[in-house]
This record gives sequence, structure tokens and C-alpha cells, in this order.
Amino acid sequence: MLAMRRWAVRHAGALERVYIAFRWILHGLRPLVGWLGAERVQPPLARVEAAVKRLMFDCHMCGRCVLSASGMSCPMNCPKGVRNGPCGGVRADGTCELRPEMPCVWVESWRGSLLMSEGRLPLGLVPPVEHNEAGASSWLRVIRGEASPRAAPARHTASSGGRLEALLQSGAFAVTSELSPPDSADPEDVHQAAAVFSGTVDALNVTDGAGAYCHLSSLAACALLLRSGCEPIMQMTCRDRNRIAIQSDILGAAALGLTNLLCLTGDGVEHGDHPGAKPVFDLDAVSLLDTARTLCDEGRYLSGRRLRSAPRLLLGAADNPFAPPFDARPARLAKKIAAGARFVQTQYCFDVPLLARYMQRVRDEGLHERCFILVGVGPVVSLKAAHWLSRRVPGVHFPDALMARLQGAADPQREGVRICVEMVQQLREIPGVAGVHVMAHRHQELVAPIVAESGVLAGRAALFAGHPTGGATQ
Ligand code: SF4
Repeated sequence: MLAMRRWAVRHAGALERVYIAFRWILHGLRPLVGWLGAERVQPPLARVEAAVKRLMFDCHMCGRCVLSASGMSCPMNCPKGVRNGPCGGVRADGTCELRPEMPCVWVESWRGSLLMSEGRLPLGLVPPVEHNEAGASSWLRVIRGEASPRAAPARHTASSGGRLEALLQSGAFAVTSELSPPDSADPEDVHQAAAVFSGTVDALNVTDGAGAYCHLSSLAACALLLRSGCEPIMQMTCRDRNRIAIQSDILGAAALGLTNLLCLTGDGVEHGDHPGAKPVFDLDAVSLLDTARTLCDEGRYLSGRRLRSAPRLLLGAADNPFAPPFDARPARLAKKIAAGARFVQTQYCFDVPLLARYMQRVRDEGLHERCFILVGVGPVVSLKAAHWLSRRVPGVHFPDALMARLQGAADPQREGVRICVEMVQQLREIPGVAGVHVMAHRHQELVAPIVAESGVLAGRAALFAGHPTGGATQ
């Protein structure tokens, strides 16, 4: 099947020409289908379509075929069901982060789309699959003139009223970091974990089951942190919730006073501590953004039902400029911005020239004027950690020159901090970079010296200057 899929992508240009001709035939069948009735035509047509498309494309008959807009690579073969890919986890050799034995479906899609005249990857949103339409004929939709809908790019404009948004809009260079909630039901453990960031960062991402490991919920930890003077950024993934739960949690977050939401597809369950859990992935990061934007800007659920009071949130997304296909990355960022992202935090940057090239393209397309870009950095405290990051975290490129510096250092941790400080200082000089996101998993105590030595706060106070314990401001 994989070989057939790859063949279809390699011949995407020829298959597109066949499809365009076939589409005319389908259109010609409209009077006949009208006479027979769509209900009567649907079952036999769906059987023929499934037989043909399963053989050629490993089609899953989602009922909303996008093959002609995805380089003849079926997105249903993505283990996360990403409809607006590629995700940030593509490996350096272009294989899937979860199934290294196969090429990323969306890398293939990009390759195929370059061979097609109509098949450029759509900049607009590819809507999520409607699961109640699984098995239905997409050919019948073409016959009836119901092409796969693509939402027109929209822009999230409503203000969150939050402090992070005000800071970014003021032009200050922002500093964020992240906290993994504890394995505890004691609120004091959340406050203690956050205390190390006080006076050092402007806002704190709170992860949502990072790495598919179970922890106290992001929503609850954010609500607790808000009370202690912190500006939390709630991370939300699509892995564990369907669109009903997602919309409920977004409303709940806003009702609790949260103003920042980072929308992620999420890590696969395979590498977490519950590998047998059912991965949901009803939405992907782009459709999650669009869902949150719809709630905020249009004051309605995806179903169309109206809200009495709309949430006010600054929406953000993750980006990985360091994962292939590099040429597709600015387009994917544009798509996230169109779906609602007003700030972006990137994967770890260790290769400043690569980031600078990416930023050049971002500036050429004016994306930095529509979205605040915070570049991910972090201290690598040993050579072993550098090798682990390079091998195990898809999309992280750790240059040989930095490896050599760590190898030759008498105190590798100190050298790791020094490298990170230099990164921050270099990134600050790149036009369009609005801040840094300092990730220091298991070494949170290093964030303060990195921020202090880089001088990145430039004499101003960090937004998170609250109390280390939860009750202080209550
Ligand atoms: S790398 Fe990501 S987008 Fe690509 S197939 Fe794997 S899960 Fe899907």
C-alpha cells in the first residue's frame, strides 16, 4: 500500500489531469443522479469509489476527500489525522515522527503538490472530518456541486485584554518559559513549581500532558497560577479531547480569567505513559485555532449555536522552522495566522543562520506584522543531552560546532548556559523576532541566569513578578 501511495504522489501531475477529466464526467452525471435520487446512487457509487481509491491512495473514505488539494497523498494516513499538515514532528529525513518506517504523509503531499497545477497546498483551512460522513462518496459530492469546503482565511482580531498581549503590542521583547504541572492534587505543588520563574519571565506556558504523560490538568494549573500573579499561557492539545470537550474547556478557561491559549495538535500517545490510550485528534492545531477564533470573534460554537458571552483570548500556535519540508514552513505559519494565531512559539533554535533564513521569508510575506514570533531556546547541559535532543526530539538541529563546544568544556552545564545566552542575544537582533521562549525541562533554575545574563529584559520588570505561593494575592 505504501509503495502505491508513493507512486501516486510521484505521478500527482498525471493523476491530476486524469482527475480533471473525470470531474467533467462526474458533472455530466448530475441530471442522471437527480433523476435516480442521491440516496439510491450513494451505496453503489461509494463501493466503486472505495475500491478504486483504496487501491491507489490507501483511501479511508472519510467522506471529505481532499486528494486533489493535497498532492494526491491522503491525509487520513497520518497517524494524528492532521488535515492541515505537516506537523512539527517530521524527522530530518522526512519520515513520520510516530511511524519512522513511512514518509510523513504531508511531506509527500508537499512533493506531490509541486507537480500539480491546481494542487498547491491550500492556504485556507481544510475543515476537520465529519465522522458521521465516513464511508460516504466524495464523488457524489462533486456530482452535486458540493466541493470540499474551505473556509476563507479569517483573522483573529478581538483583544484578550491580557497583559501578555499588551506587552507584545508595546514592542517589548517578551520572555516566556514553560512549566509541566506536577503529579499531584496539591495546589501548593503548582505554586512551588512556578516560584522559580517569578521575576524572570513575562508569561508561563503550562503544558497539556506533554509527551503524552499524564499530569495535573493545564486548565487547573493555569487557574491556580493566575491567582499568584502569573500570566499563564494555557496549552491545549487535540490528542485527548473531541471538539465538544475542546469548546467547553475554552469557555471554562476564559470564565476563570485566562487570557492566553496555545493551540497544539499534541504528541502521539505511543511514547507516553499510557500507550494504550485512545488518541482522539478530532481536530488538528489549525482547526483548533479556527475553533477558538470562532468562539472568540464570532461568538458561536462550530455548530453555529450562539454564545451568550464570547471568550476573550490571545491565540497562539507552535511552529517548527527546523523540520522538513523547509519550504512549506512559512506557508504553514501563514495558515495558522489565518486560522487565528496572533503569537507563535517555535521549537528549540540552535541554528541561528537557519532561523535567520526562515525569518527572511516570514518578513518577505509580512507574517511578522500579523503575528508575534517568539523563538524557542534552552540550555543543553551536557553532550549526552545534546545527542538525546538531536536523536529523540524531531525537528531539533544541534550543529556540530556547538557539540564540540560542549565536548571541550570543563563545565558543560555552564557552557550550555553560555550558548543559550549567546543565542538569545543573536535572536534579539533578527528583525521580526518578538521574544524568546526559554525551555529548560528539569533545569528550570537555569532560566533566571539565562534571562539575567542575556540582558533581555533590558531594565524592565518581568510580567510575572508574583508571589511564590498561591494564597498571597487572594
Ligand atoms: S510527521 Fe506528523 S503530519 Fe507527518 S504523518 Fe507523522 S504525525 Fe502526520
